[in-house]
Amino acid sequence: MNAPQIHVEVAPELAVFVPHARRAGATPLAVDGVSTLGHVIESLGVPLTEVGALVVDDREVPVSHIPAHGESVAVRPVARPQRVPGAPLRFLLDVHLGTLARRLRLLGVDTAYESTDIGDPALAARSAAEQRVMLSRDRGLLRRRELWAGAFVYSTSPDEQLRDVLDRFAPELRPWTRCTACNGLLREATKEEVADQLAHGTQRSYDVFAQCAGCGRAYWKGAHHEQLEAIVERALAEFAGDR
Ligand SMILES: [Zn+2]
Repeated sequence: MNAPQIHVEVAPELAVFVPHARRAGATPLAVDGVSTLGHVIESLGVPLTEVGALVVDDREVPVSHIPAHGESVAVRPVARPQRVPGAPLRFLLDVHLGTLARRLRLLGVDTAYESTDIGDPALAARSAAEQRVMLSRDRGLLRRRELWAGAFVYSTSPDEQLRDVLDRFAPELRPWTRCTACNGLLREATKEEVADQLAHGTQRSYDVFAQCAGCGRAYWKGAHHEQLEAIVERALAEFAGDR
């Protein structure tokens, strides 16, 4: 008798995770009658954070399903926008995603970021403790069971990364309300309160100031590079409002 086998078809959105030979159509895969479907899919290389519905012979099954010989499995991507139940939507980014972190903060999205490599266990523990969605391009990190929630960042381009996260999670956008340096909330400040951080020209030219409640950094209208204004305008044009 042949070894038990199933057929697995991975959605095109998830093809990036699997070897080339398995990308097209339903490919046969040996199963042991003990491992869960979730384990089988992870073994293929697909992080479960990226998996939406699992459909076996036209019937949706949980990741705990134990596949039996002859079954055909369709692996679908997470539905967008993805709702993360249980806590306000907030993120934790690993050391490689600093630009994305600053851009999310620029848009007012609660974004913690580790600027040093604290290691996967510490990142996963922080995600759990603070109920933050872990964003990473590290599949090993996304496999950690302690994570509150996680998502793979598909692109290496910060522009595309931002569009991907905004499209996937549809966070509420409140531009210019958070410190891009530390994620603290900005509050209105008087010119006197932030005077020690201003050059003379700035003191004369501007009257509307804000200060980070966390690190004290001063912000003022007009201090933004045109590039930052453009990022905000693009994000609002495409992603603001209810979806
Ligand atoms: Zn700050």
